[in-house]
Amino acid sequence: MPDPEATIFARILDGEIPCHRVYEDDHVLAFLDVGPISRGHTLLIPKERVASLHEMSPDAGAALGRVLPRLAGAIVKATGADAYNVLLNNGARAGQEVMHVHVHVIPAYEEAGLRHGWKSGTLDADDAATLIASIDQHL
Ligand code: 5GP
Repeated sequence: MPDPEATIFARILDGEIPCHRVYEDDHVLAFLDVGPISRGHTLLIPKERVASLHEMSPDAGAALGRVLPRLAGAIVKATGADAYNVLLNNGARAGQEVMHVHVHVIPAYEEAGLRHGWKSGTLDADDAATLIASIDQHL
């Protein structure tokens, strides 16, 4: 029975909603953002179901931190971006919309990354497959 209170990311973890998966292990899942700010915009989430960073257990936090540098490096290599933003919104007032911890990794190209604001594009399914294969090669 689906939990009516479950966040969209909990439903992705439960396999109720599909995602373009980039990386997964026992503790975390990374997938492409459906409304990317730039090509390769990826979300890294813990499998532990908490809303904010400070609610995470040390083990879940360590698991997230263990993967993040490697994931960011693979995204940089896959996209050719020479810069990127890492963002973690905590709480509605900080701009958090999905109340399950998620780290944004956002490649920056010619423009000055997030300084130009959050302009979402559209995730193309074919390009998603290309990105996933390419990131996977660099993980
Ligand atoms: P927040 O504002 O909470 O930090 O960011 C939430 C992010 O989740 C947004 O960038 C949004 O595009 C992304 N998002 C929301 N729903 C889905 C979904 O169902 N699938 C994927 N892949 N991304 C989502």
